[in-house]
Amino acid sequence: MSGRSVVVVGAGFAGLAAAEALAAGGAEVTVFEARDRVGGRVHSRRLENGAVVELGAEFVLPGYDVLQETAARLGLELFEKGTLYGDREPRDGPPVTREELVAAHAALREPGRGSLAEALERLVPSAGARAAVAARLAVSSGYELEDQDAAALADGAAGFGDFPSHGVAGGNDGIALALAERLGAAVRTSTAVSRLAWSADGVVVRAGSDEVAADACVIATPAPHALELAWDPALPGWKREALAAVRYGQAAKLFLPLASAPAPSQTLSVPLRFWTWTQHGVPVASSFAGSPSALELLAIDQGPERWADAVRRLRPDLEYADGPPLLSTWHDDPWARGAYSARALSSPLDDEALSRPVGPVAFAGEHTAGRWHALMEGALRSGLRAATEVEELLAARV
Ligand SMILES: Cc1cc2nc3c(=O)[nH]c(=O)nc-3n(C[C@H](O)[C@H](O)[C@H](O)COP(=O)(O)OP(=O)(O)OC[C@H]3O[C@@H](n4cnc5c(N)ncnc54)[C@H](O)[C@@H]3O)c2cc1C
Repeated sequence: MSGRSVVVVGAGFAGLAAAEALAAGGAEVTVFEARDRVGGRVHSRRLENGAVVELGAEFVLPGYDVLQETAARLGLELFEKGTLYGDREPRDGPPVTREELVAAHAALREPGRGSLAEALERLVPSAGARAAVAARLAVSSGYELEDQDAAALADGAAGFGDFPSHGVAGGNDGIALALAERLGAAVRTSTAVSRLAWSADGVVVRAGSDEVAADACVIATPAPHALELAWDPALPGWKREALAAVRYGQAAKLFLPLASAPAPSQTLSVPLRFWTWTQHGVPVASSFAGSPSALELLAIDQGPERWADAVRRLRPDLEYADGPPLLSTWHDDPWARGAYSARALSSPLDDEALSRPVGPVAFAGEHTAGRWHALMEGALRSGLRAATEVEELLAARV
């Protein structure tokens, strides 16, 4: 494939995975990224007390084979957090026993059709278990259960149980940074793509104020950003509809510094729809709130205070250190505008149409990743899939 040029739009996990695979196959790749950093919705930060926190994607969950292979190939290590992502202790809701919770999750393995809210009503007789599981699922998906397909229970983030969770040592964005390093000057940050002219022969993209021609292109932005590019000619109706139908869950995170690193733990606020966890060796109480109603209940648009108070009430056992809470939001981030795609009943994800190429343009991103949607693993898998599609397209032209 030597001598073939490919433009990749977006330097999140999806775009970088695609770009690296294409470059390894001999393509001349240029990656355009609107932000001044790579990683997209994966963004790690070191706090003053030395702890690394994840402002975006955090948990590496069972089945993340591509992420694990990618990290190993890049010389990055995974560490076990000790946090039981799938086994949060529900608090402040109606009373519930552990047996009732286990029975609820077992009953939901065969959820049938309809919404998640309906499946819970139908299959979980215990009011306490219903409330706890509803909170857990709304938090993880960031999306209200009344409009969420019961099929979302099969998604990775909904997993229940005491399986281990991992992170990348030094921060998850180490994967993006290492991929970008391999690509070198091919990655151009602070350069948004605004227009894309395409024909059977190739593309011309407007990146910043430049016009760049290439034989093929990978769009690896969130769905709204892909839709809003000036497409010439316009995208076919089936692709526009699929992109426009993607609904996003909403989520925010909050980090409170602690005096020392406590044992790993995980606690769910049932009424306020957030959970707080600690992990091995990290002096921080991390919290994640999911769903539009959670963001409203916690008054996130007014700052971190109300939520920080709620965390201290939920976890009075932790020894909080001085220092301001750190709030991370994504709904108001112009290059994300949401947390991750949701299985909305009223507007289903059309997995096939989302991932299908249009002429010389392949589409990547977590929302195109089918059963791996919403996750880092899905972003990486989608990038590799898009790279293969571009390679096949270019090979067929020779
Ligand atoms: C709060 C939060 C918590 C999460 N927790 C987890 C978790 O624990 N585990 C997990 O697996 N996943 C988690 N995720 C999901 C995970 O972050 C995403 O699925 C994944 O990072 C998406 O990668 P992507 O490459 O598809 O998109 P992105 O990371 O969004 O990358 C797309 C890139 O395109 C750029 N872009 C957009 N428009 C343009 C344009 N016109 N021109 C140039 N560039 C453009 C954007 O700036 C962005 O960098 C979480 C996400 C959030 C927000």
